[in-house]
Amino acid sequence: MTIIAIDIGGTNIKFGVVNTKGVLSQKDSIPTEAHLGGLHIIKKIFAIYDNLSAQQVFSGIAISSAGQINNETGTVIFATDSIPYYTGTEIATIVTEYTGLPVTVENDVNCTALGEYFTGAAKQVDHFLCITVGTGIGGALFVNGELYTGSHYSAGEIGHICLIPYGRPCTCGQAGCLEQYISSSALLKEVTETLQIHDLRDFFQLVQAENTAALIIFNRWIDYFAIGLQSLVYTLNPTLIVIGGGISAQGSLISTVLEKKLQTKLMPNHRKNLRVQTALHQNDANLIGAAYHYYSTSTKGNVYYSKKEQ
Ligand SMILES: [Zn+2]
Repeated sequence: MTIIAIDIGGTNIKFGVVNTKGVLSQKDSIPTEAHLGGLHIIKKIFAIYDNLSAQQVFSGIAISSAGQINNETGTVIFATDSIPYYTGTEIATIVTEYTGLPVTVENDVNCTALGEYFTGAAKQVDHFLCITVGTGIGGALFVNGELYTGSHYSAGEIGHICLIPYGRPCTCGQAGCLEQYISSSALLKEVTETLQIHDLRDFFQLVQAENTAALIIFNRWIDYFAIGLQSLVYTLNPTLIVIGGGISAQGSLISTVLEKKLQTKLMPNHRKNLRVQTALHQNDANLIGAAYHYYSTSTKGNVYYSKKEQ
């Protein structure tokens, strides 16, 4: 059995073919052109299906998407204005009616976590957190071998945990949120203002070279990051924290320092066996995770089929 996996991001739509073992092939991507709205994205999904299915027969379609997603009905509950007219889009219904195939949809950060659980850094780990660090902060909670999505599919909004009371204003309407201090855009802003560096890769090279000014910013960033994680570790008692998103390309430069710093902020029982690692699959995690979501929900019988199929 093979399925088509599609990842809808703000900038690109990635896609590929994934088998039941989580092996990804025929990987490619096209621009999302998010400003053109939700319907335009649906048309792009149709085109991806038309192209791939001309060569091969597939048993289903697994979709990973930005925004808050009802992962049972495959509907976008909420998406920000970066993708206009996307909120309310019944992706699974529309795509299954066009293709005749079963379709699942899950939030992209949840897919990152599932991809790492399937064949990546969190393989066989039943209690872990996944945090994606990019323009914003995304979070996924994996508890007792399953994704925890909360009462309204919105658990894991780690970026809006309060770090500094009444601190920097946040897009959520509050102030002092973790995201405003540890996202890559927050870090880049600080690096640009203080060191006149406009690319985080250059900044991390300076950190590696032990440049004093760069280290001051880096250590404060790691400290804030660890304070955010500390609350989560006390709440959920995981054995692993997986760091995803663009920043994960820095690998052990981040994970080793962050793990050490976090250990200093925890009581002994919470420190036990706790590791911090960067995501193994990086850009492919969402596609592999979407496929895991498809395969695991199809065995539970709640993959979405069109009325015609039922
Ligand atoms: Zn916020």
